[in-house]
Amino acid sequence: MELRDRAIELDFADELKPYRERFATPDERIYLSGHSLGRAPLAARHRLHEVVDREWGRDLTAGWATWMGLARQVGDLLADVIGVAKGEVVLSDSTSVNLYKLASAALDARPGRETIVTSSDNFPSDLYVLQGLAAARGMKLCAIDADPRDGVSVADVVGAMRPDVALVALSHVTFRSGARADLFGVTAAVHDAGALMLWDVSHSAGVVTTPLRESGADLAVGCTYKYLNGGPGGPAFLFVRSDLQAELRQPIWGWFGQRDQFAFGLEYDPVDGVERFLVGTPQVLAGYAVLEGVRVTAEAGINAIAKKAAALTDYAIELADSWLTPHGAVVATPRLPERRGATVCLRHPAARRIVETLRSFDVVVDFRAPDVLRIGLAPLYIRFGDVYNAMSRLQTVVQNVG
Ligand SMILES: *Cc1c(COP(=O)(O)O)cnc(C)c1O
Repeated sequence: MELRDRAIELDFADELKPYRERFATPDERIYLSGHSLGRAPLAARHRLHEVVDREWGRDLTAGWATWMGLARQVGDLLADVIGVAKGEVVLSDSTSVNLYKLASAALDARPGRETIVTSSDNFPSDLYVLQGLAAARGMKLCAIDADPRDGVSVADVVGAMRPDVALVALSHVTFRSGARADLFGVTAAVHDAGALMLWDVSHSAGVVTTPLRESGADLAVGCTYKYLNGGPGGPAFLFVRSDLQAELRQPIWGWFGQRDQFAFGLEYDPVDGVERFLVGTPQVLAGYAVLEGVRVTAEAGINAIAKKAAALTDYAIELADSWLTPHGAVVATPRLPERRGATVCLRHPAARRIVETLRSFDVVVDFRAPDVLRIGLAPLYIRFGDVYNAMSRLQTVVQNVG
């Protein structure tokens, strides 16, 4: 079948097709950077207007009756999407801050162990946070040298485990190549060595399945402004497995984690649930935007979204093989759908120029130094026809880049 006919057929059969209309699409640009900032749900615009007019504008402090529960409300809605139970996830702070809080709590729970393990392809902010923790505690940070295309393997992790490893912190899907790690195999290897496992699911939450509970993962953090469409600067989330919550204590003791907060007691005494990982006043307006992003994701269902992500990326890779590989582009993302997220990375020596030129063809992708072009295929608003059109314009640009 012709490549174009396939797009028409796939779009025709797409059960998620109606969801595109739930997002702001003010122009004809094909937006393939949803892995960086997801599109705005129309419900978020409506919700923010309403909150500013009624809750903030009129109710003022009475609004806290509702706002106090928002972090947990969104967390409970998110639980299904990221494969955990209600009461195990809560919205708070940024991903980097949550990583600091949970990694620090994990290190305290493994006294006497002196090493943190991560990988060279982890997100730089994650690496900085872990470097800072290691430096402050006089610990060693060991970064697995991950395969540039396939990311971290179970064998890599097994090879890095020593009796003094306290914590392993990895990205589930790496931003560098789009490779997806084996959540089950890695978590099991880490537990075999008596260490705790912390996953950063920023690049996988809301777009592929993240069976955190089923795999036995201890901790996770993630951001909400990528595939969860929660808006720029939206609060991040954190997950702590329920049976670990009482044992762990995070390092920033704040009043939003305090038992009987409004008794204003003078000694810190954290609540029992996942709220003990909260610190200060929540970002209410941004939290409402996240609520709507998560709501539309939960409604569509993560299994349907993940299935379409696999099909979109398969199709993009097939087009890249036919149209771009002959002109010097290399597919830099794993070819097995279960080994990748929803981003397809291409390497080309002129990637920067290609990404810039593509903008004049109304296609938005992004560039990561030194030579990577990233194509993010958010299933809720990307059509197979968009992939066809974007890739055919990309072919024109690549052919002429000289
Ligand atoms: C996007 C992203 C972050 C973002 O961290 P913030 O603190 O929210 O800016 C962190 N980790 C990973 C893996 C990411 O992809």
